[in-house]
Amino acid sequence: MLAGLNNLDNDMRTERTVTGMRSKALDGYWSWGAPWGYRNITDVTGRRVIEPHPQRAPIVKFLFEEYSRGTRTFRELAAEVNEMGDLRSKHGLKMSHQLVQKILTNPIHCGKIDVPTWGIATEGKHEPIVSVELFEEVQNVMRGGNSRTQPRNINNPDFPLRGVECLCGTHISGGYVTGRSKRYGYYGCTNTKCPYKKAIPKQKLEDSFTEFLQRYTPETNLMEALAEALKIVHRKQKRQNTQQTQKLKQKIEKLERELEDLLQLRLEQTIDNRDFLVETDKRKILKREIEVALQNLQTSNADEESAIDFGIKLIEQLPLLWKELEPAELRLLRNSLFPKNIQYTDAGFKTAELSPIYKVKAASGTDENRLVTPRGIEPRFQA
Ligand SMILES: [Zn+2]
Repeated sequence: MLAGLNNLDNDMRTERTVTGMRSKALDGYWSWGAPWGYRNITDVTGRRVIEPHPQRAPIVKFLFEEYSRGTRTFRELAAEVNEMGDLRSKHGLKMSHQLVQKILTNPIHCGKIDVPTWGIATEGKHEPIVSVELFEEVQNVMRGGNSRTQPRNINNPDFPLRGVECLCGTHISGGYVTGRSKRYGYYGCTNTKCPYKKAIPKQKLEDSFTEFLQRYTPETNLMEALAEALKIVHRKQKRQNTQQTQKLKQKIEKLERELEDLLQLRLEQTIDNRDFLVETDKRKILKREIEVALQNLQTSNADEESAIDFGIKLIEQLPLLWKELEPAELRLLRNSLFPKNIQYTDAGFKTAELSPIYKVKAASGTDENRLVTPRGIEPRFQA
């Protein structure tokens, strides 16, 4: 029984601090260095906590309020803060646009503790500097839409084709150029040394993508084959889900065994109560996280028929509605339909690999696009 616990002792020292920090964060305490706008203090119980910095917290508040109007960039705001001269001389304050961005995206300022690597997102015990509403509003402005502050934001719905590959292999991005009376949308390669570099008008690139989709969207008489292709994709997904489910279940079983072993060690008085609690806690937290992941897997396991119905409708209508999708949704869909990404060329889009769904039309022999060379067209779809 002890065999499985051999490395336990070795790891315990580092684990103890990590586990301690983690459980503090779970309890809503920030136990690391104070983020800009806060300062570290020790509370009455001797716990290391944070409180709003008397001079810096008002600046954080100012940044959130001003940015939420959607009229100023990070850079402009940084310059403005730096111009508040007396602050700079007293506290050596030098605000950069990167720091402005960091401050505006950190949920700690609205009272939350967010540690993505540990899957922790919880209410903090510290005093917020701005309201949750103001924080959300700022994130909204940052996502694009009504401001000129974040032209590079990948989720800006104005430029859904960001992330498409240029022939040089780098991704293309999009933005507006302001003319005398109107602004013009353009896409272009982000590689400064790109030999193909040129601005492609937004409308031109988007129309070209619509044509690209239309070219591969199976016609009504091919819908049966499309259903077959969707079945293959769905079954593959389901197989992956089953494998993942098994793995997660094994992890849970292992954790349960370790919990039993720890209890046994405690009963034998081989480990002290503190170590027992720390190690037990750590495994319980992990187990909870895995159980949540398991649940998510099970809900995504929709039944085959409705998944296929939905898939057919989506594929059929995609050339018409792709611009209406959320940029993040479109990105996901693009990744699964074109696993090797798509490239823009003077003659339109091309891709190195089509999903089985789009191979339906290519396999039917009606494909006239010479730019695309689908590798390994399946002879027939196995059921
Ligand atoms: Zn390029």
